[in-house]
Order: sequence, then structure tokens, then C-alpha cells
Amino acid sequence: MLTDEYIKRVYDQVVARDGDQPEFLQAVREVFETLQPVVEKHPEYEKAGVLERIVEPERTIKFRVAWVDDEGKVQVNRGYRIQFNSAIGPYKGGLRFHPTVTESVVKFLGFEQILKNSLTTLPMGGGKGGSDFNPKGKSDAEVMRFCQAFMTELSRHIGQFTDVPAGDINVGGREIGYLFGQYKRIRDEYSGVLTGKGLEFGGSLARTEATGYGVCYYTQEALRVLRNDSFEGKTVVISGSGNVATYAAQKAEQLGAKVVTVSDSNGYIYDPNGINVEVVKQIKEVERGRLSEYAKRCDHKTVEYHEGAGVWVTPCDIAMPCATQNEVHIEDAKNLVANGCKILTEGANMPTTLEATQYLQQNGVAFFPGKAANAGGVATSGLEMSQNSERLSWTFEEVDDLSLIHISEPTRPRLIS
Ligand code: NDP
Repeated sequence: MLTDEYIKRVYDQVVARDGDQPEFLQAVREVFETLQPVVEKHPEYEKAGVLERIVEPERTIKFRVAWVDDEGKVQVNRGYRIQFNSAIGPYKGGLRFHPTVTESVVKFLGFEQILKNSLTTLPMGGGKGGSDFNPKGKSDAEVMRFCQAFMTELSRHIGQFTDVPAGDINVGGREIGYLFGQYKRIRDEYSGVLTGKGLEFGGSLARTEATGYGVCYYTQEALRVLRNDSFEGKTVVISGSGNVATYAAQKAEQLGAKVVTVSDSNGYIYDPNGINVEVVKQIKEVERGRLSEYAKRCDHKTVEYHEGAGVWVTPCDIAMPCATQNEVHIEDAKNLVANGCKILTEGANMPTTLEATQYLQQNGVAFFPGKAANAGGVATSGLEMSQNSERLSWTFEEVDDLSLIHISEPTRPRLIS
């Protein structure tokens, strides 16, 4: 509940201005609820209008993206870049290509990015972008033409010292490559304007793994500090099967846990003997296929595929939502608690609804928010920017060690007695 007068007034102002942006309102409310003690302690923030400023993007860019499909027909999508806050560095945050992308979604992601980036202690402001383009079922050539059209407009607004986008849902190495090529062509400039690049043209080792690994490093540290415990012997339920989910599953297994589920938008795999991450990678990363293929590819006889259902009914010690926003609802939270879950770490951005978060916290589940727990990706992107600036490449171990410092040190979960 919002009780502080100043916070309530600013929140009401956001509702009046952006009442049609549900995801953004949710993200603001979640942050404001936790900020009340801070604002009470620092009345000077009201005079300086700090809250009013952090909820208003410095700049919102919205543009048409016209591209030609394989049949020669012109398609039109909408592109966004929200440059939210550059107080501590160039805007930094990913691009998402998904039919559910709206201004509200990009804005909530950009807002959270400000806080996440500052937690890494690296000099990065917050921003986010994307398009309602759906890459599913599109040929490589169509994805390339879309990315080129998208960058043709975006290129006037970004730059290594201004705004440095990266990947997010459906924007991985292939898309970043097409986007980088077009930026270079238009601006005639070879600079670290995007992160998540291929290793051959300025990418960083460990960037692909960084978000998923970071989610596990954070959880491992939380287990150690809060419970003198570790991943060893734990059962882990993961949603999603993209970049974050795959490498979270890989690291959790390396740390001694058994990951029993992964999912995509069609359904989920349950394997009580432990998910075979290499098979998931082959299907999702290499072939861009569907998880329903998994049972045919894996020699475990125990595999179950549940079409059209979610993973949260599965008993576990640790839950890691790694797919998308608002994927853990109140019924899911109740199932998790009833089935013995003790930890929930957000790999995705805002995957847990406010109601579900409160239920988990009130029922003894340690809850680790994405703004801290999934910062490994952007921390490593910050290191990619540093490598690009000095025109050097660091080893996997150097990047992994350094990113670990930027994830776990500043945001290390403290034992609150
Ligand atoms: P990917 O595109 O690699 O994977 C997304 C996964 O989630 C896929 O398995 C996809 O299934 C599933 N998914 C996406 N949307 C939905 C939906 N509406 N319902 C059910 N399943 C869905 O994305 P990432 O792994 O990069 O991102 C996952 C989450 O992590 C996002 O919230 C993102 O913002 C967050 N994040 C990502 C970071 C990164 O470095 N990549 C950094 C920090 C946070 P399908 O294949 O069927 O579409």
C-alpha cells in the first residue's frame, strides 16, 4: 500500500498521464512501495522532484518500420526506443521483437533498466526499445530486411556515447549482427554502438551466458548468505527456453542442482531426471524449433510434454521464471508454496505479478527481484563496452570474474533479521 503523501501524489500523476499503460504502472507501483522508507528519511527528494523525474523518460522515440517480405509485399511495424535516464551514463538496455511489444511494455522495461544498471555500479543509464515485429516463421532474409529498416531510423538516435542497445526477447546474435552491419553502413563508423555482438566483430566472451549464469550466481550467493546453503541437491523449476533460461539451467546443473522443467509459449517439458540442456540448445538456439521436439530427441524415458500449460505446478526448492513479464500469477504462487518452493529468483523482467510477489513473501519464500538478480547480462554488456573502447578482447575467465563482482557485490542479499 502507498502511504507516503509525496509518493501517492506522484503515483496519481503517473496514473493520470499514463493510465493506459498497465505494465508501466505496475513497475512504478512496485518500486514506489519499496521506496517509502527512503522518501520518509530524505524529505529533500521531494523538493528536488526526484520521483517525478525518474518516472518520466528523457525521450520517447516511436517510428514506422517498413520492410519487404519474401513475397515482395511491404509490411509495416512500429518501432520504439525509450531513452529513460542518462544521469550516470549513456542509455543502455535491450531491444525486444515480439507481437506483444507496446509503448507500455518498453516503458516498464526502460524504467526497471535504470535501477538495474545503477546496481551494477557501472556507468550506464537506462533505456529500452523494440518492435511489435514477430520473427517467428520469418526467413533469415526477412529478419535481415526488418533489422536493416529498423536500424535505418534508430541509427539517428544512438551512438557509443549516447545510447547503446543490446538484445532481449527474440533479439540475439543474428539480429544484433544485422543491426550492427546496417549502423556501420549508414554512419560509416565502427564503434561499440551495440552489445551482444558476434565475437568476430567486437563481441565479448561470456555475454551469451551472462544473464543466465548471473541469475544462478546471485541465487547461490543468496543461499550462502541467508541459509548457509547452496544449489547442491536442489530441484529447480525454470520457465522459458531462450537465452536466459538455457544458461540459467546450465549453470544450476553445474552447481549441483537438478533442473526439471523448461518451457516455451506452446507448453513445457518435465523431466524428473534432469533436463538435457544440450538438447534444448540444439532445438531452440540452433534450429529455432519448438520444445515439443524435445521428447523425440532425448533418450530419457521419463520425459513429459505438457501442451498449453505452465511449469508452476511442479514441486521444487527453487523457481526461476525466465520467459516474460507477468508469468507467475497468484494461483501459481499458491501452487509453488504448497509444493515446497523456498526461493524464487526472477530471471525475466517483472515475471511475478504484485499479488503473487506479496503472497510468496508472506509465505516464507525468499524473493529475489530481477532488477538485481538478472543484472549479469547488462553488467557483461558494460564490460563489452569497455573492451570496445580500448579495442581489446578479454578472456572468458576475465569477463566471468569481473561480471561476478558487478552482480553480487553491490546487490548481495543481506540477512535481514
Ligand atoms: P529469448 O527470446 O531468448 O527467450 C524467451 C523465452 O521465453 C522463449 O522460450 C519464449 O518462447 C518464451 N516466451 C517469450 N514470450 C512468452 C510468452 N508471452 N509466453 C510464454 N513464453 C514466452 O529471450 P531472453 O531469454 O533473452 O529473455 C527472457 C526474459 O529475460 C525477458 O523477460 C527479458 O527481458 C529478460 N532478460 C533478458 C536479458 C538478456 O540478456 N537476454 C537480460 C535481463 C533480462 P517461444 O520460443 O515460444 O517464443
